[in-house]
Amino acid sequence: MGDIPERFKHLDFMRMDRRTFLKAVGALGASVFLQNYRSEIVKALEFAENRIVWIQGGECTGCSESLLNGGEPDIVQAMQRLNLKITYHELLMEQQGVFVDGILVNTSELNSELYFEEVIEEGGYILVAEGAIANGPDGSGRYCVLGGKTYKEIFRKAAENAAFIVAVGQCAAFSGVNAADSDIRDLLDFRGVAFTLEDETKGILRELGIDKPVINIAGCPPHADWMLLTLAAVVLGKIKIPEDLPGVLDKWKRPKIFFPPDHTIHENCPRRGYYDRGEFDTTVSGEKCLWKLGCKAPYTHADCAIRRWNGYHSLCPQSGSPCISCVSAGFPDSSRPFFQEIEDVGIVGTNLDSIAKVAVGGALLAAGAHAIKRFSEKDAGKEGGEGKEDENGEEGNEKIGKETEESGENEGRNEKTETAPEGKKEG
Ligand code: SF4
Ligand code: SF4
Repeated sequence: MGDIPERFKHLDFMRMDRRTFLKAVGALGASVFLQNYRSEIVKALEFAENRIVWIQGGECTGCSESLLNGGEPDIVQAMQRLNLKITYHELLMEQQGVFVDGILVNTSELNSELYFEEVIEEGGYILVAEGAIANGPDGSGRYCVLGGKTYKEIFRKAAENAAFIVAVGQCAAFSGVNAADSDIRDLLDFRGVAFTLEDETKGILRELGIDKPVINIAGCPPHADWMLLTLAAVVLGKIKIPEDLPGVLDKWKRPKIFFPPDHTIHENCPRRGYYDRGEFDTTVSGEKCLWKLGCKAPYTHADCAIRRWNGYHSLCPQSGSPCISCVSAGFPDSSRPFFQEIEDVGIVGTNLDSIAKVAVGGALLAAGAHAIKRFSEKDAGKEGGEGKEDENGEEGNEKIGKETEESGENEGRNEKTETAPEGKKEG
């Protein structure tokens, strides 16, 4: 996300309060943050080592891959800078399994099951859970078995001794595709950690009777920054657990700084100018607004359009794919059908119907207000100044578009948005 903005350059990291810290990580990418505050971070973490136990259940490994592809600094550098030690991660660790070359091994140097037991016994680690937890059939968890053990049992052990839990990705946070409508959904009974879809009574923690603080990093997959910077905020003591969580998380337990309640992706979309002028693509590979192809960004709360993906360069609507709202708790059913304009969709369920009506109304109002504001500002000879007021005064979601404009991070992006109708070059 470019160089560090001037106004963040001279801040004393050690004295930075939580609000300023969250503003900084909201406006900066992980790479800029970790590089520029390197010495302060090292100082702050001199004695602390934060162990991470990363387990994987019903998932595609996309969340780990998103983290691994996070760019510069790479995951190893980022972890070193944050003094994070991934003590256990099935995908990455060296342990071989129970058998090596066909021979049963009984040392934790080689046997991942023994190693897992040792790590769990120590306790006090940050548990990162990736993937949904199978509860079926009949509460046994046998629909997801790893090395002879149910993932439900593995999760239970790991959760009981954890300091707190970070559920990364839709599957761990909300069960995601595992809970998509199908004839076998109830039989499989996949659960998220604290929620199953939008239902907080169906999280696996409640089923297991475990009470632990949870942070949900939504997304299918989540952005590497969302994962890394959340961990950074916690290990650097900028978010204290559990006391700060109610202020920094939304009702879905997602960090508001990355999933701002008062900001949608649509507001900063590079195709936004086309939307305002009512110019829509009706087939893929065009360059206009993707609303008629089912874009859900007008009611999706995430900073994708500001932070951007793939080395901070792109996002789904920019590259030609309508946003499918992959960060929403009800995803994927609440977003289906993916490629159909909301108004064209019949009533397929309470979620989509109610969300769509509110969202469409809200989006149209927002578009109207946006267009009027631009018009009046043009009349008044003003440029920009489109920052959205923080109506609810919630911490961590303050005027995110404005923040980035002021900080220079979004330079050229809003400009592209505003000038897109005249000379569309994105996408
Ligand atoms: S493509 Fe989607 S996010 Fe972009 S302007 Fe159109 S509706 Fe909004
Ligand atoms: S733009 Fe939409 S579909 Fe793409 S990553 Fe963001 S929330 Fe998910």
